[in-house]
Formats: sequence, structure tokens, C-alpha cells
Amino acid sequence: MKISSLFNGEKTVFSLEVFPPKKTSGSVETIYSTLDGLKSVKPDFISVTYGAGGNRADLSTFEICRIIKEKYDTPAIAHLTCVSSTKEDIDFIIKKLKESGIENILALRGDRKAGVEPEKDFSHASDLIRYIKTREPGFEISGACYPEVHNEAENSITDIFALKEKVDAGAQHLISQLFFDNNAFYSFLERARIAGIDVPIEAGIMPVVNISQITRMVSMCGASLPRKFSKIMSRFADNPKALFDAGIAYAVDQIVDLISNGVDGIHLYTMNNPTVALRIFSAIKSMR
Ligand code: FAD
Repeated sequence: MKISSLFNGEKTVFSLEVFPPKKTSGSVETIYSTLDGLKSVKPDFISVTYGAGGNRADLSTFEICRIIKEKYDTPAIAHLTCVSSTKEDIDFIIKKLKESGIENILALRGDRKAGVEPEKDFSHASDLIRYIKTREPGFEISGACYPEVHNEAENSITDIFALKEKVDAGAQHLISQLFFDNNAFYSFLERARIAGIDVPIEAGIMPVVNISQITRMVSMCGASLPRKFSKIMSRFADNPKALFDAGIAYAVDQIVDLISNGVDGIHLYTMNNPTVALRIFSAIKSMR
């Protein structure tokens, strides 16, 4: 199923992100316990992450997408990065995706790693999108967007122009970086719509349920922390159970506000934790 067909105005799309199990935790099959746990959420689709330095030897993302589609009867989006890929690598992966019956790709540049020279074939996600569309127009492509501006962008205007280029290149749906301040998302949405970006934009929500997650997430994506969020985190820093409950309550509060404001969709970063996803879904399912 093509993801954009889900955005038909009937309900707010609710989707999930999972990541392939770490090599140290065993084979790709360990994803089954995560997927079994997520089954009752009945997500509209599940996206599966891919390493920025992804290579032909690691096809776990695509294998998991195939499992999601075939065994769980749920549409899947395969993330695909290009910073470390040549055109030949992408051709190889496109072929594998076609063989696995996967129709949806989240086309990304991927983070550049210090000391690692990027490949030269693709400078930006829009180059990858254009390339895939030329090679295999049948794929539906999604792209990433940044409510609080991508950390390498000069400013919010150049970032929006780059996003418009991504959409003009063929992205039919966007998923946002996580954020904790809904107002940041609403002003981003306004900028995007003014710039003529008219594809569905899903809001990325990450429930923060432990302290180490905050430090990691914020240093990785630079999301700003509203006062209300910081107060909750410091109040319950020494009480893991309370922090867990409060983190879920905060995410639910964000989602209720987003749905009330007519957002196209909610994309939940599950961190492969079905308990958290289920708690959130139960709290908001009647509101979609
Ligand atoms: P781009 O769209 O190429 O943007 C990167 C920077 O270049 C931005 O600052 C942008 O403003 C600028 N830019 C873009 N186009 C142009 C242009 N034409 N001219 C000038 N400047 C331009 N990473 C992974 O490794 N694996 C994943 O699975 C993964 N999944 C993600 C899912 C989501 C929803 C999000 C939001 C991010 C994800 N990432 C993932 C992280 C992502 O790879 C990084 O944020 C990366 O730094 C940027 O990727 P991008 O596709 O947004 O890049």
C-alpha cells in the first residue's frame, strides 16, 4: 500500500518507528517480540530505520519491512540513507526492495561522521529522491523534516527551501524530527505551508521515559525543552517509575493537542518498547 493514500481525511494517521535489533542482541528474528507487542496498536504503518553507514551486507531493515508487511499485514516504510552510498549501492538496494515487495522508502541523507569521507554521488536527500524516482518511479518516497531546523542549516528559511526541493523532487509525505514543544511544530507547519509544501506532514513524538534518554536525544537532535517538560524531568529524576508515567503523560498531552489542532498524523518513536507504545495508543485511540 502507498502511504500517501492513508491521508484521506478520515482519521489522524498513527504510525510507529522501530529499529533493527543490535547485532549483539542476536538475529533479526528478535524483532518479532517487538512486533508482537505492537500488534494491538494496529498502526497505519511502521517505518524501520537504517544505518547512516548502511551497506549492502546489512539488509536487516528491508528484511524487517518484509516481515511487517507479510506476517503482520501492515504497510512498511524502509528508511534509506545515501551519505555512504554510491549509485551502484542504491541500485542494488532498490532491486532488493522490489524483490521484497516494499513500495515505500523514507529517503534520507544520513548523518555525516567525523573523520569519515562521505561518498560523492548524493549530497542531499533530494538527490537520492530524484535518483530513485528516475530509476523506479513506482516507489513512493517520504522525507524527513525538522520543526526546530536541521542542525546544519543556515537558518529556518534555507531549511524550508531545502525541504521544498525535497518535495519537488518527489517526496509525497514527510515525517518530522521529534520535538517536545508543539508550538515549534505549529510554526514550522505554517512556514512549510507558506512555502507551498502541501504533502501530509506527520508529527514525530518521542516519549521520554528515562533520564539517559533525555541527554542522548537532546544532544542528538537539539530539540528544545519547554519549562513544563524540564520541571517534570527534574521533579521525577530520582523516581524511575514516576518518570516513566510522567513521560508517557507528557507524550499523550502533546498528541491530544496535535490531534485537536488537526495534524495529519502522529509518528511515534517507539524505541522498540511496545509497553510505552500501547499505553500511549490506549490513551488516544478514541480521538483519532
Ligand atoms: P537533507 O534533506 O539532505 O538535509 C541535510 C541538511 O542539508 C539540512 O541542513 C538541509 O537544510 C540541507 N540541505 C538539504 N538539501 C539542500 C540543498 N539542495 N542545498 C543546500 N542545502 C540543503 N538517520 C539515519 O542514519 N538512519 C535513519 O533511519 C534515520 N531516520 C530518520 C527519520 C526521521 C523522521 C528523521 C527526522 C531523521 C532520521 N535520520 C536517520 C537522521 C537524518 O539522517 C539526519 O538528520 C541527517 O543529518 C539529515 O538527513 P536528511 O535526509 O534530512 O538530509
